[in-house]
Amino acid sequence: MTAKRITHFINGESWNGNASRTGDVYNPATGEVTGKVDFADNAVVDQAVTAASAAAKEWRKASLAKRAQVLFAFREIANARKEELARAITAEHGKVFSDALGEVTRGLEVVEFACGIPHLLKGSYSENVSTSIDVYSIRQPLGVCAIISPFNFPAMVPMWFFPIAIGAGNAVIVKPSEKDPTSSILTAQYLKEAGLPDGVFNVVHGDKVAVDRILEHPEIASVSFVGSTPIAKYIYENGTKAGKRVQALGGAKNHMLVLPDADLDLAADAAVNAGFGSAGERCMAISALVAVEPVADELIKKITERMAKLKTGDGTKGSDMGPLVTAVHRDKVASYIDAGVKEGARLVVDGRNPQVDGAPNGFWLGPTLFDQVTPKMSIYVDEIFGPVLSVVRVKSYEEGLELINSHRYGNGTAIFTNDGGAARRFQNEVNVGMIGINVPIPVPTAYYSFGGWKSSLFGDTHAHGTEGVHFFTRGKVVTSRWLDPSHGGINLGFPQNR
Ligand code: NAD
Repeated sequence: MTAKRITHFINGESWNGNASRTGDVYNPATGEVTGKVDFADNAVVDQAVTAASAAAKEWRKASLAKRAQVLFAFREIANARKEELARAITAEHGKVFSDALGEVTRGLEVVEFACGIPHLLKGSYSENVSTSIDVYSIRQPLGVCAIISPFNFPAMVPMWFFPIAIGAGNAVIVKPSEKDPTSSILTAQYLKEAGLPDGVFNVVHGDKVAVDRILEHPEIASVSFVGSTPIAKYIYENGTKAGKRVQALGGAKNHMLVLPDADLDLAADAAVNAGFGSAGERCMAISALVAVEPVADELIKKITERMAKLKTGDGTKGSDMGPLVTAVHRDKVASYIDAGVKEGARLVVDGRNPQVDGAPNGFWLGPTLFDQVTPKMSIYVDEIFGPVLSVVRVKSYEEGLELINSHRYGNGTAIFTNDGGAARRFQNEVNVGMIGINVPIPVPTAYYSFGGWKSSLFGDTHAHGTEGVHFFTRGKVVTSRWLDPSHGGINLGFPQNR
């Protein structure tokens, strides 16, 4: 099979230069190299910025009605072709097709939200704050906005940001993960077809070289980053140092607290779905199950029964769980299983050497379950980002809460209970940004904002919802008086409302 070339999309067209560096793109279900993606150097990033800068100057003048129409048309096109997009995701990421479709649908919710941009950008107006003086507020675009996204949601994560950025009148440069770059190119094509002017949406592929140029480029006003915590911190520190507005969403270790009164069948379903869906490569995956005794034994039994029925295999063939994204990542996750055994955790289900419905060279790892995990073990401390679920046994709600609050990550968490008072107490006391009550993956809907606490987010603005609108706009307040015959005369005192 010949590998296809994947290149940048700048100013409404595919880039036609020669890249000095490229990266391999794999089909994780077969292990084959299916694509070669061009890596941008400084000159390519600069070319994209030049195009975006010029486009932004015109696009900010487009009426709100026009911007909403383009987003609406894009929503219709992407929805009609969501299977094409989902196939591209499965082919490069490995997640099963139904999951890839779910990703596209959740991304389109943000597009639907952004179609309401005329309403979302409404300012306020106060008449007569002082005699004959009115005050009003407006929100204006930033200019050129960069989006740097991770491999695990190649279509949805850019959609958390660009619909609102574009709706607000900005131009965008997306730097997708080099591991699964195709869906961002399809997105660019759909947007062009939807009538978006050239240069408003650009894609540059690459690695640290492209990212560093984005961070330092003086004409880029903001950076929205999603990825691992060390890189998020780096992006935040360097982006803000260069004077940019930055929101950098990082890694996660999401706990699910199961109280003794919980419906254990519901909890077991949730633990399996949220622990092993997308092979655990979700920032909202559950990776630590905190069981308040005496439920651990029964819960583990129910989880194990469900795990035995999971089919691991090629995502195009109706499996429940696909491969991991690369061989390197699979090996890293497997090394955590080795470490868990060495550190004394009880390996209940071992996913190494799994039975799979797929090619022998795919990047396979089966669902894995550990019991008797303690807070000092590396499988508990680190984000593994694979299909490994760790059960930690605690004696009380308080001990479970303390565990969650002491962890460095604070992206999502869930409580399973039938006690409304306990759930309410948990939502009040837990130091985590997104909370599920009997819901395992509490990804907020588009008109709320997505973001974690602690080392799961750098910057103070979450993604999409009203916080997203705020991030991609800058406020202005106008104080105005239209001449009437009553001139105030000279007064050097500080203006007061009279
Ligand atoms: P990653 O940090 O390796 O990569 C993210 C982006 O940063 C990619 O575009 C990549 O090319 C770029 N990058 C990688 N190394 C870089 C470097 N040294 N300098 C500059 N840029 C660099 O993350 P990933 O492996 O693609 O994605 C998985 C991670 O993303 C997990 O930690 C997961 O929790 C996190 N994630 C978080 C959220 C969230 O909302 N908090 C959502 C999805 C994924």
